Amino acid sequence: MLVSATEMLKKAKAGHYAVGQFNINNLEWTKAVLQTAQELNSPVILGVSEGAGKYMTGFKTVAAMVKAMDESLGITVPVALHLDHGSYEGAKACIEAGFSSIMFDGSHFPLEENIAKSKEIIEICHSKGISVECEVGTIGGEEDGVIGAGEVADPEECKMIADLGVDMLAAGIGNIHGVYPANWAGLNFDALDAIQQKTGEMPLVLHGGTGIPDDMIKKAVTLGVSKINVNTECQLVFAEATRGYIEAGKDLQGKGFDPRKLLAPGTEAIKAKVKEKMELFGSVGKA
Ligand SMILES: [Zn+2]
Repeated sequence: MLVSATEMLKKAKAGHYAVGQFNINNLEWTKAVLQTAQELNSPVILGVSEGAGKYMTGFKTVAAMVKAMDESLGITVPVALHLDHGSYEGAKACIEAGFSSIMFDGSHFPLEENIAKSKEIIEICHSKGISVECEVGTIGGEEDGVIGAGEVADPEECKMIADLGVDMLAAGIGNIHGVYPANWAGLNFDALDAIQQKTGEMPLVLHGGTGIPDDMIKKAVTLGVSKINVNTECQLVFAEATRGYIEAGKDLQGKGFDPRKLLAPGTEAIKAKVKEKMELFGSVGKA
């Protein structure tokens, strides 16, 4: 059964660890993340971007696959199915499709509009037991051409959005999506501390987890980060393992072309990466 992310994140914040959000792209991804969470007795959040949702033929397909797999694999750890960086329309579609958690990203709207739309999404979601994440201060990425420091959210704006009743808050603290450039200045811990002081018990979300050094991740968790998003890193290890299989000519040996064999090394690589992250975030055994 899918659950909202509210309880698992409250527990994480109180217990000083973080729950990983691992983005899924297909069946192999979903299976790898669910099996690893179960094996390590860890709560987990499956993230689905609008692009990945489209790729999997729609949010309904995703919700149906995840629910069925959760059941057929006998998963007993808490699993939330979460829309990542949802638009207003995307959020409504996922609520309809049966997602248990929604991120509404209104960070590109003027603050008043972000607040009005966030409020509406929060109301609908909470009436259905769905958790909500909102974002303050755009989180940079290579597409935006923002390279270097990344943006830092205003603590006052964070408090305004937190007070709307969101269940988790994403705030830019110098983090960016994708692979970090060599001249990246690192996370801004003063900003994180200021945001936490203003938002209190609110679980904070760290986007762009790929390539942030382990010691910075650990420090961010001590300053109130309770959810960490991992996406690019799983993609990189999946591609690397698949490349290795093909470069070794294994697809040409026997039935090595069978997709169940061809995709197996990549799937195993995702499992290993998810395990590594759950150990780093401290969520192992916390289900
Ligand atoms: Zn993000």
